[in-house]
This record gives sequence, structure tokens and C-alpha cells, in this order.
Amino acid sequence: MSANCPECGAAGCRDKFESMLALEFESPTIFGAVHHITVICYNIQHPHEFTEESLAWMRLSLRAIIVDGLSPAELRKQVRKTIKGGVQVKRHAEPSQEPLTRNWSMTITDIRTENPEGYREDINAWARSILKDLNIES
Ligand SMILES: [Zn+2]
Repeated sequence: MSANCPECGAAGCRDKFESMLALEFESPTIFGAVHHITVICYNIQHPHEFTEESLAWMRLSLRAIIVDGLSPAELRKQVRKTIKGGVQVKRHAEPSQEPLTRNWSMTITDIRTENPEGYREDINAWARSILKDLNIES
């Protein structure tokens, strides 16, 4: 049994993330349709290695995708602009403080992977729960 993750609080989150990436990679138009959401949600719940600046960008992007309906193509454009703008994505040094565990309403381990409909539904529900937990829903 794997221990509970110090960041998102769920057990086995990393394995689940990797199996979901494999699934999305194997069927890019079916499971992979929500790939951009999966990655942002996972990163927001595992902020340890990211800079505050890039986390702020991820929170805004998730809101733009879920609330304003930003498309993956538009998101990619914004990513390029952000990186060109010199935003440092990863921390160079180890953060000095211990990761702060939040009580997330939903984590990656709640996502059903049996069929694409349930999967997409759960990814969207996960994204909405994160916006709600962070109080940036509207
Ligand atoms: Zn975790």
C-alpha cells in the first residue's frame, strides 16, 4: 500500500496520473480530449515544484477553460506567450517549507477510467471542485 500523498492527500495519486496519461496518449481524441485539464488539475494539487507565478497562471487557465470555455488550441497559444514572457515554471531550489496539504473535495484517485464519457465527466467535475476549493469559481 502506498502512503497518502503529502500534497493532495490521496494514496497512489502519482500512479493514477501516469496510467491516465498513458490512456490519454493511447486514445488522444477520446480520453485525450481532456488532457490539458488533467495536467493542470494534477499540478495545482501538487504545487511543490512550481513557482507561485506559474501556479497563479495555472489557476487562471483552469478557470478560463472551465468557466469561459477556452479551447486547447487557445491554451497552447497562451502557454507559448507565457513562456516567451519569461515566466519561470519550476522552482530552481527546493522550497524551504513543507508542502501544505489542503482538504481537496476531489483528487485524481476519484476519476473513473472505465469509459470515456465517465472519464470526461469526472475530469470536468474534478476541475470544478478545484475552482470551488480555491474560491475562484466565478
Ligand atoms: Zn498527490
